[in-house]
Amino acid sequence: MNTVRSALAAARALGLDRLDAQLLLAHVLGKPRAWLLAHDDEALGDEQAARHAALCRERADDVPLAYLTGEREFHGLPLAVGPGVLVPRPETEHLVDWALECLQGRTAARVVDLGTGSGAIALAIARACPQADVTAVERSAPALAIARGNGQKLGLAVQWRAGDWWQPLKGERFDVVVSNPPYIAEGDAHLAALRHEPRSALSAGADGLDDLRAIVEGAPSHLVAGGWLLLEHGYDQGAAVRALFGHPAWASVGTRRDLAGLERCTGACLKSETTPESAGN
Ligand code: GLN
Repeated sequence: MNTVRSALAAARALGLDRLDAQLLLAHVLGKPRAWLLAHDDEALGDEQAARHAALCRERADDVPLAYLTGEREFHGLPLAVGPGVLVPRPETEHLVDWALECLQGRTAARVVDLGTGSGAIALAIARACPQADVTAVERSAPALAIARGNGQKLGLAVQWRAGDWWQPLKGERFDVVVSNPPYIAEGDAHLAALRHEPRSALSAGADGLDDLRAIVEGAPSHLVAGGWLLLEHGYDQGAAVRALFGHPAWASVGTRRDLAGLERCTGACLKSETTPESAGN
């Protein structure tokens, strides 16, 4: 007979992390994880046991847990996620917190999230700062559909735009621009473990900086004077991203670390409004 105990033992034999095996079983049974802890001997139906075993095999093949349960919490929001979007990471919550600090004291501020994916950053800002006018840009149609769905389900107002980085924002200026673009270098060994997530959300050119460069280059014509651009980047890209803000149009260039102590987000404030020609770098 299949029981909670035997299902978790089978998952352990596959080499699965105990927490992942429990979360997948809780998902299959529609129960909270805490329920499992007191129901070791509870019988499982054949179909439930088979479904759990199949999910465990996928997890053992590095499929993100969030794709298997269809959900990931980000900044306190339950978000639907699927294979078309990057799974929101906890380190990106720092970027949201930084954006919220920049928004303090600004009334009717305009915010844009470039490359929103599941909508995580835009929705977290919209929830925490209801007076902000939040826009989100995404070039992948399947990702944009997931983001819109999250906005509807959560009842949060975000203006969703299809397009590549600045392209759908011609002539518009914002108080705060945030982005967690792809930043892993092509050929980085770490991409192998991330193979189930969209490559277009992960890697950007030989040094991983192609999209970060494009975003910084376009920012001066899309920020108000005193507006902020805040970017997430790789643990070893802090100096390179600070260098992208080398033009004198930028002030207060700074980097923040994640909970692992790694340089993770770099941002700067635009001193005065400029045209792309006068502030490109
Ligand atoms: N932080 C992710 C990772 O390294 C990558 C996210 C991204 O490229 N924006 O797993």
